[in-house]
Amino acid sequence: MEISPAPVQQIHEPLFEQKGVQVFIKREDLTHPVVSGNKWRKLKYNLQAAKEQQHDTLLTFGGAYSNHIHAVAGAGKAFGFKTIGIIRGEETLPLNHTLTYAKSCGMELRYMDRATYRLKNSLEVKHNLLSAFGKFYLIPEGGTNALAIKGCEEIVEDLSETYDYYTLGVGTGGTISGLIASLKGLNQVIGFSSLKGDFLTQEVENLLVDYNGREYKNWQINNDFHFGGYAKIKPEFLSFIKSFEDQHGILLDPVYTGKSLYGLYQLINKDYFGRGTRILFIHTGGLQGRSGFGI
Ligand SMILES: *Cc1c(COP(=O)(O)O)cnc(C)c1O
Repeated sequence: MEISPAPVQQIHEPLFEQKGVQVFIKREDLTHPVVSGNKWRKLKYNLQAAKEQQHDTLLTFGGAYSNHIHAVAGAGKAFGFKTIGIIRGEETLPLNHTLTYAKSCGMELRYMDRATYRLKNSLEVKHNLLSAFGKFYLIPEGGTNALAIKGCEEIVEDLSETYDYYTLGVGTGGTISGLIASLKGLNQVIGFSSLKGDFLTQEVENLLVDYNGREYKNWQINNDFHFGGYAKIKPEFLSFIKSFEDQHGILLDPVYTGKSLYGLYQLINKDYFGRGTRILFIHTGGLQGRSGFGI
């Protein structure tokens, strides 16, 4: 279960030159042919634990367009697990691209109404799932748990150079927690939230305290570029993605990598970073989600 190192490449832009900053992209989108990006990092130690605990079935949760559902289905097929995906809401036919792929990997899809889905971490819902499906290895929604954070620490351990800033998109906060833990208080981390509301700072603090009991000061969550919430988009933002792709030949997804890179460009434009700053942007993958936006 080795993860191939993701190459780091420098991005050249007149804007960066003008502001005197250097921007690099770590291509986590290239680490695995099917289980792309940070979802692969988050699954690695969970898959090992499932094997060690002699589970043959993985069960997890997600929305109908979820990168995590896609990754678990692909990983199950690649590493010999049965997979069950509990999908939020009603079934919509024909199945979208994400769920068609999941099904083609052998994932059993079950739908859970939104009210029950909100209670999915309760003992009662867990109990019902156990009686419906028997023994399974449970992976939380979005894949975030301590083993996922451990896997995401390796994103930093892979790097042969250091940067002043590490930047990325944030959903549940598992990936940024791994980065922060691995950097041990050195340099700065900026996570751009893809979700509405400002609960993620507290959430990441909680994840880190549960993970290793530590508090860190060298990170922040930026809530200015979610465009109204998860999977919400604006026209000027889609044209940013398109022109970035045309100029650099690197695809972005509209939910995470597009928003966070857009946010980074805005901060650079506003002189947030001093001259001479070296910035790393983590491309966390998620390209399968593009089809949901018709791009
Ligand atoms: C899931 C996902 C994220 C968010 O990761 P978290 O660990 O949940 O914060 C970021 N980028 C992409 C492409 C993702 O699929």
